[in-house]
Amino acid sequence: MMGHSHALSGAAVWLAVTPALMALPGILAHPELATVTGTVLTPPELVAGAVICAGAAMLPDLDHPSATIAQTFGPATWLLSKGVNFVSGGHRHATHSLLFAVFAGVGTHLLVQRYPIGRDIMVVLMIGLALRAVGIGVPGHTITSALVNMALTAGLFVTFHMMGVTYSWLGFAIGVGCLVHVIGDCLTERGCPVLWPIKGRWLLPFDIGIKTGKTFEKQILGPVLSVAVLVLLCLRLMPA
Ligand SMILES: [Zn+2]
Repeated sequence: MMGHSHALSGAAVWLAVTPALMALPGILAHPELATVTGTVLTPPELVAGAVICAGAAMLPDLDHPSATIAQTFGPATWLLSKGVNFVSGGHRHATHSLLFAVFAGVGTHLLVQRYPIGRDIMVVLMIGLALRAVGIGVPGHTITSALVNMALTAGLFVTFHMMGVTYSWLGFAIGVGCLVHVIGDCLTERGCPVLWPIKGRWLLPFDIGIKTGKTFEKQILGPVLSVAVLVLLCLRLMPA
């Protein structure tokens, strides 16, 4: 699946299901669950969450150093991608599993509580990945693209900060984003090793999986996801 399909589906799922999930601790009368889901979202947090979830929906593809996404912040993300590729066993291996989604979500949740600097690094990385995935950059100019991305990422990071975004839900958003990526790749013809380290790829039967970058994804799925994100944004941000 292409980068922008993953990022848009991450944002769409966040906007669609998160308000209901955030209300769960109250509905179930288990307020302690709120330590995992974060506090009730303000409109800026809802938007920041959609951006973070879009970025997290790109995180599993950092196992692919030659993909555009690895160029997000130039050599910094390329080296990170090389490391992820080495540790995870190559493209579409460990990072494309349920275990990775849980590990990334829980790991980030613990990081947020202990190290504010770790939280900020994760936030900056997720914003950068989201921007790059939706096409921010100058084709053929790697360093210029990285600089443009850094400037826009810094701008968004500061804006979210000034609007009082707390990121108490950061680990949750990252877990959801990674999960959305795994599900998205399961809908493609190559599938995913969902239960890694158990071998075996999960994919749709009868060869009906989406062919990455072909007509259906570019001309139908991409526009449908873009409209879905815009409609959900309007619905969530409109005063009740
Ligand atoms: Zn992937």
